[in-house]
Amino acid sequence: MEETLKKFKEYLNKIQQYNQAVALFMWDMQTGAPKESVESKIESIGYFSTEVFRLSNAPEYGEMLEELGKPENFEKLDQGMQVTVKRYLRDFERTKRVPEAFYTELVTTQARSEQAWEEAKEADDFSIFAPHLDKVIRMMKEYVHYMEPDQDVYEVLIDMFEEGMNAETIDKLFDELKAGLTPLIEKINASKQADISALDQKYDIEAQKKVQDYLLRYIGFNFDRGTTGESMHPFTTTLCPGDIRVTNHYDETMPLSAMFSAIHEGGHAIFEQNIAPEFKGTAVTEVNMMGLHESQSRFFENILGRNINFWIPIYDDIRELLPQLKTVPLETFMSAVNYVHPSLIRTEADEVTYCMHIILRYEMEKAIFKDHVPTDQLPELWNQKMKELLGVVPDSDATGILQDMHWSDGSFGYFPSYLLGSIYDGMFYEAAQRDLGDLDQILREGRIKEVTAWLNENIHRYGSCYNSKEVLERVCHQEASAEPLLKFFEKRYSEIYKF
Ligand SMILES: [Zn+2]
Repeated sequence: MEETLKKFKEYLNKIQQYNQAVALFMWDMQTGAPKESVESKIESIGYFSTEVFRLSNAPEYGEMLEELGKPENFEKLDQGMQVTVKRYLRDFERTKRVPEAFYTELVTTQARSEQAWEEAKEADDFSIFAPHLDKVIRMMKEYVHYMEPDQDVYEVLIDMFEEGMNAETIDKLFDELKAGLTPLIEKINASKQADISALDQKYDIEAQKKVQDYLLRYIGFNFDRGTTGESMHPFTTTLCPGDIRVTNHYDETMPLSAMFSAIHEGGHAIFEQNIAPEFKGTAVTEVNMMGLHESQSRFFENILGRNINFWIPIYDDIRELLPQLKTVPLETFMSAVNYVHPSLIRTEADEVTYCMHIILRYEMEKAIFKDHVPTDQLPELWNQKMKELLGVVPDSDATGILQDMHWSDGSFGYFPSYLLGSIYDGMFYEAAQRDLGDLDQILREGRIKEVTAWLNENIHRYGSCYNSKEVLERVCHQEASAEPLLKFFEKRYSEIYKF
């Protein structure tokens, strides 16, 4: 067994080297590689990804996994290796059941569908996308059937993005949230909105970049173990444990967008930067729970970043870096940060109505996979649900069902994780207050690093050792519940909107 373990670690190292190369090519492609090099970058990515696919499907890899998975061997492994063997063995067995020809067809279908989606969105015409979406849905059902023949398709898809989660739990959480949010949004809608026109100015991009670095540093992003770049859409990527990178996107007229993207991506990165070093080289560093990951980015972005006390100790510094803000009082700045109103586009939504955008997508996915609603009826269903949940109806598919790319490549089951993240945050907020005391005061005194350290210690260091359910039990001593988040929203927005 010692011999097998040694060989297995070497084998994993090889896969990780290829993966790192892929991540580096991707980073380069998305953050400024010259246009004419893109084709060659794609080729390199394809080359190394195929190598990874081969290595992780080779019979010798399967044999090592089986050997290490035997109970008498498994119990001797350390925690990191146990997580690794368990997860990779399951993945190996799943993939083994998928015929190669089918998999190749799935990948090309997804790629074509992504293109068709782009075209359809551009032309504002769902009918261009419909046949592709239809095929992707059909193939995803088949794909899951191969991997887990005895399980419900949508349940497997949910579990792929948030291990241990299921539709029954999500139903309960989202219904609870929907019931509480509907009257809250009505109250906010009936309230007077503050005048935030003082923010309508042009903000220098270079200055915005300095603000980003300042904010990242302030919340605890470690620049010795990461760096920043610029891309179309902000994202976080891990090259290796010592190199976690974030990107941002800048707009001269929207300084808040880059600030909050920085805090959000910074939250993802801080999670990855603080996984304990003893898990290096294991699957623990590959956090496969998008809900838990989102909970960390959104904790910084929403729970902390939308609190006035977050800004009190640093607003003067920010104004030095971004002089246009000198004419904007902190109160006005905060009114913009906490501006709640129902709108059509998910990625531009505030933290309250955002929840409804996700509930809508979750209900749509259930309609697709559990009720088998035909594809051509989906745009109408979307609009109906927008009316019901947010009271606004898109006048085009581009601002309706075509707005997100997730479904074009078959990433069904992903959307719920965004909202699960926020639900967990309501709970983490209460747990942090219990352990650290009044968070408002901690933030007001500029001691945010204490909160970051608390998250490091209780959540980040374990990477993916525990699934979200277990994390909630360990940190909050209770099962997932939407109540803390609702209470949090009620308090925050009744103060801001004075009801
Ligand atoms: Zn995120």
